[in-house]
Amino acid sequence: MRSSALAALIPVGPNHDPSLDVSVVVPIYNECDSLPVLVDTIAQALQPTDIDYEIICIDDGSRDGSADLLRQLVGQRRDLTAVLLRRNYGQTAAMAAGFDHARGRIIVTLDGDLQNDPADIPKVLAKLAEGYDLVSGWRQHRQDHRLTRLLPSKIANWLIGRVTGVTLHDYGCALKAYRAEVVRDMNLYGELHRFLPALAYIEGARIAELPVSHRARQFGQSKYGLGRTLRVVMDLLTVYFMKKFLTRPMHIFGSFGLSAIVVGVLIAVYLAFVKFMGQQDIGDRPLLFLAIVLFLSGIQLFSFGLLAELLMRTYHESQRRPIYRVREVVGAAAPTK
Ligand code: UDP
Ligand code: MG
Repeated sequence: MRSSALAALIPVGPNHDPSLDVSVVVPIYNECDSLPVLVDTIAQALQPTDIDYEIICIDDGSRDGSADLLRQLVGQRRDLTAVLLRRNYGQTAAMAAGFDHARGRIIVTLDGDLQNDPADIPKVLAKLAEGYDLVSGWRQHRQDHRLTRLLPSKIANWLIGRVTGVTLHDYGCALKAYRAEVVRDMNLYGELHRFLPALAYIEGARIAELPVSHRARQFGQSKYGLGRTLRVVMDLLTVYFMKKFLTRPMHIFGSFGLSAIVVGVLIAVYLAFVKFMGQQDIGDRPLLFLAIVLFLSGIQLFSFGLLAELLMRTYHESQRRPIYRVREVVGAAAPTK
């Protein structure tokens, strides 16, 4: 597909710089060796097309001089913006910062370590132009360690698919393209960036998968090990329970508690009847013990539900808190003073 046709097909969203088609968002944490090549190859992939693009690199508190290098690169080229965060906030927060600064109608994300091939960007854009809201890369020949990376990912992909109902081969592939409105205003936290397709699907997004290439890391090390898979699973469980139950925790714990109280009171009424009408001694009956336990634990469960409900309210309200803080923005997208 010729790229001018591609640019014409890119859908128009509200609130964006109308001249900008694509924002390429790249989170950067200690990637100074790959940065210059990365930015060059992204530009090389997009310049031959008619697409107006910007590259937004988010420095996520790197300690290897990536931020200074970014400043330098910004001075040399007009297609680059660097968003420098105050400290390391994690990949999800870095991506959220990128989304917030992106001005294009389309947002493309990829990793800063050159494991994704920027040459694939026009391909995912072409797929998006077929009428999707989100195109997710699929690393068919993934160049990572089998036992520590491929196996946990396989399990995670399966699990995420089961829980969210959106089955993808490769949730973890960073190379993705979105219509900007799909990711804008999404409340991201924890490791949630990898559930973006599922979150977008809940909002009605049309999703496609596209095989892309993947290369071994050339420089530096992966920032993640097995621990991340565990965190991802925890986040997944949180999302699941939040969706299913915890938006109204009172309805679960509260109803258990209330039932226990009611049964406890019924037993107590029965025992009172036996004692006063039947003139029998009830002091040593196990049923009396049960009534007391049910009544007390019922009250506890009920108050627990109430507390959980209040906590959920606070939680939802606290979501307005930013998950990253910006030290400085340099380059084209920087606010003009
Ligand atoms: N990254 C980040 N903040 C972090 C960890 C990672 O911005 O705290 C970036 C990192 O620089 C890279 C991307 O997120 O561009 C993916 O990280 P990495 O390549 O280490 O993950 P892997 O490819 O091994 O899953
Ligand atoms: Mg990587």
